[in-house]
Amino acid sequence: RLMLEIRRLNVSIGGRKILDDCSLTVEDGEVAAIMGPNGAGKSTLAYVIAGRKDYRVESGEVILNGVDLLALEPDERAARGLFLAFQYPIEIPGVATMTFLKATLNAQRKQRGEAELSTPDFMRRVKGAAERLGIKPDMLKRALNVGFSGGEKKRMDILQMALLEPTFCILDETDSGLDIDALRVVADGVNTLRAPHRGFLVITHYQRLLDYIVPDRVHVMAEGRIVKSGGKELALELEKSGYRNYLTDPDQAV
Ligand code: ADP
Ligand code: MG
Ligand code: MG
Repeated sequence: RLMLEIRRLNVSIGGRKILDDCSLTVEDGEVAAIMGPNGAGKSTLAYVIAGRKDYRVESGEVILNGVDLLALEPDERAARGLFLAFQYPIEIPGVATMTFLKATLNAQRKQRGEAELSTPDFMRRVKGAAERLGIKPDMLKRALNVGFSGGEKKRMDILQMALLEPTFCILDETDSGLDIDALRVVADGVNTLRAPHRGFLVITHYQRLLDYIVPDRVHVMAEGRIVKSGGKELALELEKSGYRNYLTDPDQAV
């Protein structure tokens, strides 16, 4: 069954076309990877799915489980189970990670018309999720991401993802600049959360992450559209030959 359907999406920013008839589908339970050179439009696609305002959607459709996402506000999309893990995590000085997570979870519940979680109920959930993911609970008392190492920030991202129990997760280059331990945190988190009713879009420039998160499908994005799709072996092929074959101007390959 189709989970995410992107049909002929055309997106511009400041009058410049970034996504050019971009089409992509992700099935139920699938982990799909998008790889591509810098500037291909990968992050733009992630942000447009999540509903960031800066972009102008000229035409096309983004459907998640039969719902037209483009008609919804970002928080309504989150309430429908969409989760975007950022390339650059935000720091919130003065707000304990625990407080932030509780507010995020309750905002989602409110959007869904569900009652707020009491503090003890929330604590039970967060401790359960932290335990499953091998996260030390003392981190939760510190201010969100402030002074966290790369690996700790990733743990928080993944913990947030686990708590929100999303139906569709987008990870946009969460692997960039990570050492191997932090990479494993991300991969273990995704692998733990893999489920028949949950889809993933893992965006990465490098093949390395896909040694740990073995994707069901690999899509190559170049110049604002998906130019090739295949199985996990496509990632290995890209690792060898790079993106040059997919670009109008091969000198642009970075
Ligand atoms: P990728 O994630 O594949 O590296 P991006 O989606 O970040 O690609 O960027 C695609 C293109 O859109 C790039 O040429 C980039 O310079 C341009 N772009 C992205 N965001 C903006 C913005 N806010 N303003 C102007 N141009 C942008
Ligand atoms: Mg980039
Ligand atoms: Mg990007």
